[in-house]
Amino acid sequence: MPDRSFLSWPFFEDRHREHAERLEAWCAANLPVAHGEGIEDVDAACRRLVKILGEGGWLKPTAVDPENPQKLDVRTLCITRETLARHDGLADFAFAMQGLGTGAISLFGTPEQREWLERTRRGEAISAFALSEPRSGSDVANMDMTAAWVGDEYVLSGEKTWISNGGIADIYCVFARTGEAPGARGISAFLVPADTPGLRIAERLETIAPHPLALLSFEEARLPATAMIGRPGEGFRIAMTVLDTFRPTVGAAALGFARRALDESFSRAQGRDLFGAPLFDLQMVQGHLADMALDVDAAALLVYRAAWAKDQGAARITREAAMAKLFATDRAQEVIDRAVQLHGGDGVRKGHVVESLYREIRALRIYEGASDVQKVVIARQLMGARDAGAVGS
Ligand SMILES: Cc1cc2nc3c(=O)[nH]c(=O)nc-3n(C[C@H](O)[C@H](O)[C@H](O)COP(=O)(O)OP(=O)(O)OC[C@H]3O[C@@H](n4cnc5c(N)ncnc54)[C@H](O)[C@@H]3O)c2cc1C
Repeated sequence: MPDRSFLSWPFFEDRHREHAERLEAWCAANLPVAHGEGIEDVDAACRRLVKILGEGGWLKPTAVDPENPQKLDVRTLCITRETLARHDGLADFAFAMQGLGTGAISLFGTPEQREWLERTRRGEAISAFALSEPRSGSDVANMDMTAAWVGDEYVLSGEKTWISNGGIADIYCVFARTGEAPGARGISAFLVPADTPGLRIAERLETIAPHPLALLSFEEARLPATAMIGRPGEGFRIAMTVLDTFRPTVGAAALGFARRALDESFSRAQGRDLFGAPLFDLQMVQGHLADMALDVDAAALLVYRAAWAKDQGAARITREAAMAKLFATDRAQEVIDRAVQLHGGDGVRKGHVVESLYREIRALRIYEGASDVQKVVIARQLMGARDAGAVGS
């Protein structure tokens, strides 16, 4: 049984605790969704997960309700991701992408654009976030893709890569250069339906933990002016605001993976006899378990601090979100590695829970800002705070 004492922390309200209870019961009854590792198997499993998550009402927190727009509740997003990740990495992925893919529409969309949210919140449409390009991953402001205004349309040309849900999404939130200014100030955001002529899935990408991923090609894909999300030249700010909101949730997913690894390790240490006694009786094993628990609790504190700060109305939580993502993902990698070690040969056996966690965690330290980038962000935030006199000399 996972440690859920964190739910009594003052970051949460009763509605969060009730949500966690109900979701736990739903996960126990519905997850994991079994699937093979081929692209078609994973696509089908993801579609099924979006459908059942939608039917269960679990996708509602991923986007604002167009009828009654309220702020996104980041604590609910984090609790949901942590819980889903503990049960099934692909379920967490399916949930997370419904939020990231529609985040720009929730935060900056017009009422017409928000009509899509009715469908994504019900699990009837799948969304994706298309920012990265072959030449600009970490260096987002250096993107090549263009959206030229021709006649009365935007014409999109270029490529987007590593796009989660690429190949199964119904809508893509795409960032492209509109040229109002050089660099970051000349980028805009667009809502692009998957059936837009000129948008093509150029390549499906396979990774160590299978998820739907693709390289998208835009060959003069034409969009009406109403496809733009926000104003011309606001795209970089929109992307960063969306990432700021969802970045703590990546930490929450890592936390879910780490908590599962810790639970599996405890069970293993209690159930496996070595040298005539349970593995748990070896003090070095206890030391591993203690270190793992410490990392899990510290990660939870950082993740839920960031989520709480956002929900309290902070305009930006750049430092808190970067710390949460960096610490939770890096430490989860370490926790899971220790879990593999404590499982011995079984830890690297294909199909074992800790073996799949070991593959699942790795990409979280790369996407939505690599760990190294988060360190740069934190250092710059500290410098900014010092300059503003917020940190003592
Ligand atoms: C599984 C997966 C899913 C993804 N899903 C999406 C998605 O849905 N949408 C989307 O738009 N993108 C997505 N991405 C892309 C992801 O955001 C990029 O891979 C990431 O931003 C890194 O870019 P890159 O791969 O081009 O690596 P690069 O930018 O080439 O960086 C390589 C490495 O250089 C180092 N580095 C980079 N910048 C700095 C710095 N400033 N200081 C110090 N070191 C640095 C880091 O170690 C980094 O990992 C996904 C990636 C993966 C792996």
